[in-house]
Parts: sequence; structure tokens; C-alpha cells
Amino acid sequence: MTIVVKVGGAAGNALDPVLTDLARRDDYVLVHGGSEAVDRLGEALGRPSKYFTSPSGVVSRRSDPAHLEVVVLALAGGVQTEIVAAFARLGVRAIGLSGVDGRLLLARRKDGMREVVDGRVLRVTDDRSGTIERVDAALLRSLLGLGLTPVVGPPAVTAQGEVVNVDADRVAAEVAVALRAETLLLLTNVPGLLRDRNDPSTVLRSVPKEGVEEAVALAEGRMRKKVLAACAAVDGGVPRVVIASSRGVAPVERALAGEGTVFS
Ligand code: ADP
Repeated sequence: MTIVVKVGGAAGNALDPVLTDLARRDDYVLVHGGSEAVDRLGEALGRPSKYFTSPSGVVSRRSDPAHLEVVVLALAGGVQTEIVAAFARLGVRAIGLSGVDGRLLLARRKDGMREVVDGRVLRVTDDRSGTIERVDAALLRSLLGLGLTPVVGPPAVTAQGEVVNVDADRVAAEVAVALRAETLLLLTNVPGLLRDRNDPSTVLRSVPKEGVEEAVALAEGRMRKKVLAACAAVDGGVPRVVIASSRGVAPVERALAGEGTVFS
């Protein structure tokens, strides 16, 4: 049973419990984000992260060339190496791949993006972000077949060989679809999609097809991206997607048991 697990990179996520839990399994792909690491490196380099909000209310990181450079350094050069090393300490032979490696994640550059500034809709200029068009599932399967655990994260690459930023939740969804994964887990710093985002006891237990609109409406900011990614995975044929906490003991087992918000 192939599963795809994405662990969040915002503050408040816990990595060790996820890796410890995964080390007991085989046949999985780990996808990572790393927004906190990107923010931290950006501050240190004098290129603090900037975000913008689309007319539909989705918050995205600004990915002009200077910021994309920070993303690449912090994720492919930083977070990914740390995860592979942490796996090594657990006796797992992992291999880190950005979407550029082996052209794993082929994307098309986004154009015509819009942002809302002071109530006005403006064009986003100089953006280097993309939409994933193809995942090389055969490459991932070959690595799994060699007994290697793929650790995958942004950026992606275009057919012209340009590096583009992609959303890590979307990477996880596309990888799960391409691998025909049984389950996709989106592990994050909250216990699931919350009815009241300030009250962790208000987890929405399940989102059936007809509940998608309500789920999208509940999710603000970056959670909206996660919910849209979950829906995209279900639409792409993944039978079950769970948004759940990365914290506590055995987060993978608990999410597989349905603790969190289950999309099906
Ligand atoms: P990660 O890096 O773990 O992927 P994100 O920061 O991208 O995490 O998304 C999780 C965040 O989304 C939460 O910490 C929370 O602040 C925010 N959020 C917005 N609306 C909701 C909601 N309805 N339920 C849960 N979290 C929400």
C-alpha cells in the first residue's frame, strides 16, 4: 500500500514523530514544505518573505527571482538534507529530490496571476511559480524498488529548464495521484480543518464530495491551499486524504486511523 505523507514546514510542525513513525513502514514517499526555514533564511539574507492574496482569497508566497533563490537554498539545500540525515539516524536510507532532479516535477510557469492590494486587483509581476503538469511516478517507483525512501519537495522545473516554485501541498497531491496512492496525509501544525481556527477542538471530521464548498469557505489563508490540494487529490482518484496533526506520538498511524479531517 503506497502512501504519500506531506509534513508541513510552518512553525509548530513536528518532524521527529513523523519520521520515527514512518521508519517502521515501507512503500511511502515523504513530501516536505519548509515555510519557516524559508522565512528564516530570507531574514538572514536580507530578503524577507512576502506574501500576496489572490482575488479568490488564496495566500501565496512571492516568488520573484530573488525570493525563489531563497526557497531553493532553504528547501532543496536545507530542509531536505536535514530530513534525509534524520532518516539516516533512524536507519532509513532516504534520497532527497527536488522537482528539478531527474525532472521529477514538470511544471508550466504560471502567468496572469493577480493580487489584491488595498481592494484593487493588480497583476503579479516577475513571478517564478508554476503549476505541476507531470510527475515522474516511474522514477519514484524505481527508487522505492531499490529500497530507497524518496523525500520530495519544491521547486519544480519547466520543459525549458527553468526552476519554478510550487506549493508543497500541491506537490504532495500530484505525487499521490501519479503514484495512485491509497492515502495522502497532509500533516500540519493544527489537528485538521477547524470550524473555528482558534479552537482546536472544532475539527471537521469528514468532507464528502458535497461538503467541499463548506470546507473551502472555512479555510483561510494557507489552509485554503491545503484544502484545495486535498480536493485535487480526491478528484485525481486518491481514495482518501487526511489533514491531520504532525505532533504527538505516532502522527502517521493516528492520521491513517482517521484522526483529523478526512476527504473522500
Ligand atoms: P504547513 O506549513 O503545516 O503546511 P500552513 O501554515 O500552510 O501549514 O497551514 C496551516 C495553518 O492554516 C494553520 O496553522 C492555521 O493558522 C491556518 N488556518 C486557516 N484557517 C484554518 C482552519 N479553518 N482550520 C485550521 N487551520 C486554519
